[in-house]
Amino acid sequence: MDDSQKSTTDDSSKRSSYSAEWQNGIVIAMEQKILFDAVTTRPQILSLHNEPVVFVPTELTGKDNTAWVTAEISMQKEKKSGSLPPSVQLIGSLEVCYTDVCARCGADTSGEFTEHFRYRIFTGKEPEDAFAEKECSEDEVESLYLGGGENAGVIDIEELIKEQIYLNMPMQNICSSSCQGRCPGCGVNLNIAECRCEKDYSHSPFAALAKLKQKEKQQ
Ligand SMILES: [Zn+2]
Ligand SMILES: [Zn+2]
Repeated sequence: MDDSQKSTTDDSSKRSSYSAEWQNGIVIAMEQKILFDAVTTRPQILSLHNEPVVFVPTELTGKDNTAWVTAEISMQKEKKSGSLPPSVQLIGSLEVCYTDVCARCGADTSGEFTEHFRYRIFTGKEPEDAFAEKECSEDEVESLYLGGGENAGVIDIEELIKEQIYLNMPMQNICSSSCQGRCPGCGVNLNIAECRCEKDYSHSPFAALAKLKQKEKQQ
């Protein structure tokens, strides 16, 4: 972890009140959802600059799951075309930096990835015949149905970003491909210290055996 990342991590006030900017002048808070009906046929660009996003609650994994996200997301209303009802086309690119602990040695480590994604967003529930799926599969656009109920017609940008981070985050991070990990015997970090197992040989259950063998040799 370098110093610049540390200082941003410590800025906890930012976490609860960070905002995103629409390039056409409308400023919204990230927590605010975007109404499907408010998206126009003119593209609107949402930009995020190194904002903290907790993509999985800490309670679930026992570690800090904050990623630092720089994103550009464009949204545009598309009129009814063919068999498709009106939709919102969402095109996004993400640059994600994260910190983690090495799965081998436990040292702090960091990583980054970029990802591009596209959604075609519809109101209502997913139709049973999944007509949209067929038409969208060619250009790798994911269909998203906002469903009914309380959140009907609400596009939750933060949830989409979290989903993309979750899908692209490596299951296990390592500090380096040459990481030696920790000795299973003495637990020492083999990248920075030598194994102490031999020094502690006398405490090992094999020590008695070794002594016997030595005696045999001497005889
Ligand atoms: Zn390591
Ligand atoms: Zn050891």
